[in-house]
Amino acid sequence: MAFSWKEIAPGVGQIGDGQGNFCTLLTGSRSAVLFDTMVGLGDLKGFVGRQCPVEPMVIASHGHFDHIGGARQFSPVYMSPEDLPLLEVGRGQIPVLEQTLGRSLDGMEESFRPERYRPIRPGQVLDLGGMTAQVVDLSGHTAGSIGLLCRELRLLLAGDALSPQACILFPESLSLEHYARMLDRVERLPFDRFLSAHFDIAFPRHIIQRFRQCVSLVGKKRGMEYEFGPLPYIKGRVYVGEPQNREIGQLICLITRPDTPPLD
Ligand SMILES: [Zn+2]
Repeated sequence: MAFSWKEIAPGVGQIGDGQGNFCTLLTGSRSAVLFDTMVGLGDLKGFVGRQCPVEPMVIASHGHFDHIGGARQFSPVYMSPEDLPLLEVGRGQIPVLEQTLGRSLDGMEESFRPERYRPIRPGQVLDLGGMTAQVVDLSGHTAGSIGLLCRELRLLLAGDALSPQACILFPESLSLEHYARMLDRVERLPFDRFLSAHFDIAFPRHIIQRFRQCVSLVGKKRGMEYEFGPLPYIKGRVYVGEPQNREIGQLICLITRPDTPPLD
């Protein structure tokens, strides 16, 4: 398989695995950070090594398989301790994933070993040399979802926390109210563009207002039934804000658990 590479800004590259998953390499003058490792296809470590002269610190945006699947190639991997319980859950999901993805995930268990992980928490600031990355709390999608804020570039790396197709349908997702409060907090952060982990485009920050509008639809209109493809036993409800937003060319929706009540 071949990885894709797209330069988002000087020192910022979005790496894709051809399966709709992306991770981000931040390279400063002294050190580097790899944010996420995708599902674990191919030699990500080798690819990153060719893009970057130093070995990066590896940070997981959260504990889902499509973000930490490649963790076994790196040690340690930093993650919010809030998502450590997801490692056990993820290990149990491997047989179902092998069926739905139609391939063997040999070795993936290694990526879910708790001893591989070290804690990282919101508020920590990493100085990469000419570029800083501040860990910010983006909890909602999962309890331990974090982002990296690069103030110099006015860029936020958001993992799955900010997405045109936002998902808070998982058992480990927090409440609709918590998600809405997170969006409100994000609006106070100093950035102009953000990266979302299943896209290789930098979204404009004002589009988050459109994400916010989906919150008020929940429980008020019917919403469509939804089944999460890789793990079909996870059901949700889709609330469509815009079938196709012209500016970003994307469906804007929010997917909640089926029984989520309206906010007010
Ligand atoms: Zn996720």
